[in-house]
Amino acid sequence: MPHASLALNTPTGDEVKTTTCYMCACRCGIRVHLKDGRVRYIDGNPRHPVNRGVICAKGSSGIKQHYSPARLSKPLLRVGERGAGEFREIEWDEALALAAKWLGDIRARNPDELAFFTGRDQSQALTGWWAQQFGTINYAAHGGFCSVNMAAAGMYSFGGSFWEFGEPDWDLTRYLMLWGVAEDHDSNPIKLGLGKLKARGAKIVAINPVRTGYGAIADEWVPINPGTDGLLAGALIHELLRADRIDLDYLVRYTNAHHLVIRDPGAADDGLVARDAEGNALCAARSNLRHPGAGWGPATSGSAEQAHGSRLRGDDGEEHEIVRASDVGIAPMVVGEFTLPDGRKAVPSFQLLAERFLCDDYAPAAVSERCGVSVETIRRLARELAETAFDQAITLDQPWTDAHGRHHETMLGRPVAMHAMRGISAHANGFHTCRTLHVLQMLLGAIDTPGSFRYQPPYPKPAPPPNRPGKSRKDNGALDGGPLGYVQSPADLLVDAEGRPRRLDKAYSWEYPLAAHGLMHSVIRNAWAGDPYRIDTLFMFMANMGWNSSMNTSETRAMLCDRDAASGEYRIPHIIYSDAYLSETVAFADLVLPDTTYLERHDCISMLDRPISDADCAADAIRQPVIAPDREVRPFQDVLIDLGARIGLPGLVNEDGTAKYPRGFAQYMVEHERAPGVGMLAGWRGDDGTKSGFGEPNPAQIQRYVEHGCVWEARVPDSARYYKMANRDYLAWARSLGFLGSTEPIVLQLYCETLQRFRLAAQGHGPQQPPERERERVERYFDPLPIWYEKVSSCGSVRAVQNGTADPCADLSESARYPLSAITQRPMFMYHSWGSQNAWLRQITARNFLYLNPQTAAAHGVADRDWIWLVSPLGRIRVQARLHEATAPGTLWTWNAIGKRKSAWKLDADAPENVDGFLLNHLIDERLPASTDPHAYANADPVTGQAAWFDLRVRIERDPEPHQDGHRIELRPARTSG
Ligand code: SF4
Repeated sequence: MPHASLALNTPTGDEVKTTTCYMCACRCGIRVHLKDGRVRYIDGNPRHPVNRGVICAKGSSGIKQHYSPARLSKPLLRVGERGAGEFREIEWDEALALAAKWLGDIRARNPDELAFFTGRDQSQALTGWWAQQFGTINYAAHGGFCSVNMAAAGMYSFGGSFWEFGEPDWDLTRYLMLWGVAEDHDSNPIKLGLGKLKARGAKIVAINPVRTGYGAIADEWVPINPGTDGLLAGALIHELLRADRIDLDYLVRYTNAHHLVIRDPGAADDGLVARDAEGNALCAARSNLRHPGAGWGPATSGSAEQAHGSRLRGDDGEEHEIVRASDVGIAPMVVGEFTLPDGRKAVPSFQLLAERFLCDDYAPAAVSERCGVSVETIRRLARELAETAFDQAITLDQPWTDAHGRHHETMLGRPVAMHAMRGISAHANGFHTCRTLHVLQMLLGAIDTPGSFRYQPPYPKPAPPPNRPGKSRKDNGALDGGPLGYVQSPADLLVDAEGRPRRLDKAYSWEYPLAAHGLMHSVIRNAWAGDPYRIDTLFMFMANMGWNSSMNTSETRAMLCDRDAASGEYRIPHIIYSDAYLSETVAFADLVLPDTTYLERHDCISMLDRPISDADCAADAIRQPVIAPDREVRPFQDVLIDLGARIGLPGLVNEDGTAKYPRGFAQYMVEHERAPGVGMLAGWRGDDGTKSGFGEPNPAQIQRYVEHGCVWEARVPDSARYYKMANRDYLAWARSLGFLGSTEPIVLQLYCETLQRFRLAAQGHGPQQPPERERERVERYFDPLPIWYEKVSSCGSVRAVQNGTADPCADLSESARYPLSAITQRPMFMYHSWGSQNAWLRQITARNFLYLNPQTAAAHGVADRDWIWLVSPLGRIRVQARLHEATAPGTLWTWNAIGKRKSAWKLDADAPENVDGFLLNHLIDERLPASTDPHAYANADPVTGQAAWFDLRVRIERDPEPHQDGHRIELRPARTSG
């Protein structure tokens, strides 16, 4: 057809509305084109700060998500057996009255009998607050089975984290290391950033057992064995320390490298930071500042004049002073042993770190085989990091003033950036692995400097943040704090007088003390087992726990349906579930509350939750309904507010008992104040909409967001763009917007004193101590410096690198019986399970294979497209293999959540997802392997409780008919029958 005859300018629709995408977690700005009241087209909003007009395959396929045949259309009440999927449709009044009855009875009796767990909903600022008003401690969101290790390790180490709390300096980085990065998360922003790096010729190194997605465009792929990233990072630290290629000035200015750690084995203060009477950390500093020092001698903390302290002679014969570590004008020591004024001995934390990582256990030759990375490669990577950080340092002509008042004419940058995701996080050693990466960044001086990793406001926060999890109920029944938070010491744990867990998921107990996001993956098992207690109602939102979000999926489904032998009642008496789609989990609910699609509701991407800021700009956003629902569905947030009013929750009713937000979430977004002047949205506050951060509620606030493409931004001042943790202008700016409570500098935690407090408790010190069963486990894992261990055993022991002790519980034949690692990934074009029912996205992939390196295949006699058996201690599944050069030998992998359960998602019975697609979760134990103890530990990180999805070990068995199609599952007898 001649071009002239094409009607190129025909409008796509008769109306265009802006909102925020929800096809993944990036929250790009989109324009939705409507025609005749239907969505016709979705494209990127060119004026939106996240994506600047870019749209990805997922985002543009939102139209098929919106019109999915799998959408729920009316509240459902179960009429058949649980799991059978037999429901009758009911009216909303009946549904809400029933839910309010169940919830109201619980609240009157014992609020903790409600377990309220949500998936990747991005509404935690509301759902967590609602749980607090209800008074249950049993609330969490999806982070525990996603990447809490990354979040917790970051927050306890430097008050930030990879991904949603920070980003590489895309404009200035010259060397980017991607560690275990999932491609469905951080989609458009990272693609835009990687494009900048490629255009500039910056080097990208992908460290991952599998080379797909972003790894495919990396300049170097380092195939690593799953779960050994921390060991590789430790070896890089070893090499940097050995070569004396570290940034000592950065360390003493911004970290606690020079803080003195008390060395008094067996004493109650052993391993704690030495402090003065006011609680200020102390350090040793050379008395004579005219001796600049060399190597690991004194670094300089600045040029100001005043330092105060007591003058003593050190064990090295040198005269030094014990002074406040935050004093300026001192030359702090980072090695040596010093005597405190009261006679106690202490060493700088850096010395302890150096002792840890200079040990031969972290030498490249010692870790190479276990990591699957050659000695030469490890040494070269360390060299490249140092050369880029130090020999290619950047200096920006940007004056700034630090938090101590020292003026600097320029900003020094270390153009080495790191980015990491679930690949390093979803192991039982993930917390310490993430901490090791952050220590590596600190040693390079590469946190929030030009060219390095950068915080995104409202981060940094103090490390750790001061908000502790709520523990007790007030007179009105509400918890005294949000149900999630950061514990600082054993006194903050949620345990009873005997040290037993108070939460159903055992978060914040001695089993998982730093469980900042809860353990959603343990909730169903614990509720079923009554461990630590039975509950009445499990209330879930958008979490596909009946399928791909659970470990040991088949048995989890059985638990949901299991009845008490004596009473004949379900062991979990009530299950309420809210979802927009007919996911696998719907069949297990007693009451289904149908949610809208993301195009039909208001949402709030809040500063109180996970905003959309980048490093130069604080930003939050909303979703607005661009189309009215054509079904009897309601936004979950509206339903939650309605239910709260019906049961009279504080904050949701007026004094006369009437509903406070009768117009639902949109009204709550505008009128609710978390603290005076602080609400869900930071933009256009105050009566006239001129205030940012703080300000009275503004009735026109949502309208102002809509006028601005549903997004609000506040630019970080030029002088505040870097060194945010100690930049006077940034700290003042962040405080003015309510991001920080003070302008005190944030000290990066090379040495984590919080962990030592737990270790001391395990050693018998302090009023709160772990039960005997937990002592060894807590003492081992709560090391204030990063450690690496291969596995966690059923008795809680650890085989750690630095002490070489054997795991007394390890089944030594296990690694021989299950010699291969099996992991999953999500594809770039799908997000969690939502994408694989989308008519457009299914055309890219509608089934999954098991991918393995040709070497691995040859060793097991497997040919391309053979059907084989994949075996774990839980059973075996029959899957089709594909050979894949870009997979590390010894690793097997597949796309997660492509395989579906028949009858879910409205897919045809013979859909590839149902017939050939498979789920690896059937083989992943939700408890530690080989355990027969009904109170066994979860298959999780012992520090945070993060689900250890990627610790799965398997073996391959050949099938006698490898060319005969057919996926099958053969599992061992269920434990739920016992
Ligand atoms: S990257 Fe995510 S949020 Fe952005 S358009 Fe794609 S799916 Fe939507």
